[in-house]
Amino acid sequence: MLNLVLFGPPGAGKGTQSQKLIEKYGLIHLSTGDIFRANIGGGTELGKLAKSYIDKGQLVPDEVTINMLNSEVEKHENSKGFIFDGFPRTHPQAKALDKLMQSKDTNISAMIALDVPEDELMGRLKKRALDSGRTDDADPKVIANRIEVYKNETAPVKKYYEAQDKFYAINGLGSIDEITERLFKTVDSLK
Ligand code: ADP
Repeated sequence: MLNLVLFGPPGAGKGTQSQKLIEKYGLIHLSTGDIFRANIGGGTELGKLAKSYIDKGQLVPDEVTINMLNSEVEKHENSKGFIFDGFPRTHPQAKALDKLMQSKDTNISAMIALDVPEDELMGRLKKRALDSGRTDDADPKVIANRIEVYKNETAPVKKYYEAQDKFYAINGLGSIDEITERLFKTVDSLK
């Protein structure tokens, strides 16, 4: 199996690039942000809980997020592999993901980070707010909080994969196609 963790701050382009990766490698895309938003849209209990955190730019608690991710993986018994997008975002989530992969007799192949400078990110998020309808993109204070949470809790997760020699960073500036090319090269080098 090919199991990729796509990593990067809010606005780095994880969603866009995930689409390219699933087409080329036939993977299942699991975006925790998308799953939470689908639950919010569907008015589920999970959605209501998640919304109370997301609207403030905070992380949804680990236990809730991990349980949700586990059950999503269970839904795809015979997949060729997964792209985890927006997960793991904390150290406990990274450990839980390893445990889950082990229980399936597989492991994480690599964490690939999209490197994008902060001023570029702010610009992209402001632009996205105009057409995404995402409430967490609309308020500069919420955006700033997400970036802060990213720096404090999520960026350190990189060390977890570095210690296992599974961390790869690629330049996230340029055209969508240029970035996709860089990603494909990295993924092909894993095989
Ligand atoms: P972005 O990375 O662009 O901020 P996402 O769509 O990945 O957006 O996530 C939106 C929000 O959903 C996050 O700000 C957070 O509140 C919540 N969320 C997503 N993934 C996780 C996770 N792995 N753990 C905790 N909360 C999460």
